[in-house]
Amino acid sequence: KVTNPIERPIVTQDLSENVILTTVDDLYNWARLSSLWPLMYGTACCFIEFAAMIGSRFDFDRFGLVPRCSPRQADLIITAGTITMKMAPALVRLYEQMPEPKYVIAMGACTITGGMFSVDSPTAVRGVDKLIPVDVYIPGCPPRPEAVMDAIVKLRKKVATDSMQERGKLRQTHRYYSTTHN
Ligand code: SF4
Repeated sequence: KVTNPIERPIVTQDLSENVILTTVDDLYNWARLSSLWPLMYGTACCFIEFAAMIGSRFDFDRFGLVPRCSPRQADLIITAGTITMKMAPALVRLYEQMPEPKYVIAMGACTITGGMFSVDSPTAVRGVDKLIPVDVYIPGCPPRPEAVMDAIVKLRKKVATDSMQERGKLRQTHRYYSTTHN
């Protein structure tokens, strides 16, 4: 029974045992963090380690990750390998085709900084975050599958505390290379 509903509703013992009170953000985040679907995006040797994640030994399906081949069905992209200038527009186009809210994990030295190609290659992108916003970085050459799993756990923690309102503001202010606006 609820008494005095105008000044201060009192939730009775019976009611509190049967009703879960939460915010929309918490409910939304709880649903999303166990069903992150990554787009398959491997360009070089790092992807071999990423592919190992999909097998039974590391079994990343247990986190609810189901690899997708279409960006329209994915809310996570793990860039695994070297990104070249020629490939940059295609990567950004794929990112733009993913529905919001979406996340990016940068896997390996080549993706994060250009790696060994950053010394004298005229075609390597010196950091994928110059193209799209990165949420979690995995250093290494190549990072082991355990490091990828650690990144997934970190991303899940981030998703759990995400605010849709704040993320919307971030999207408005973050400037990244765009195939449609540049
Ligand atoms: Fe290959 Fe190392 Fe570059 Fe990964 S970081 S793509 S393993 S050279």
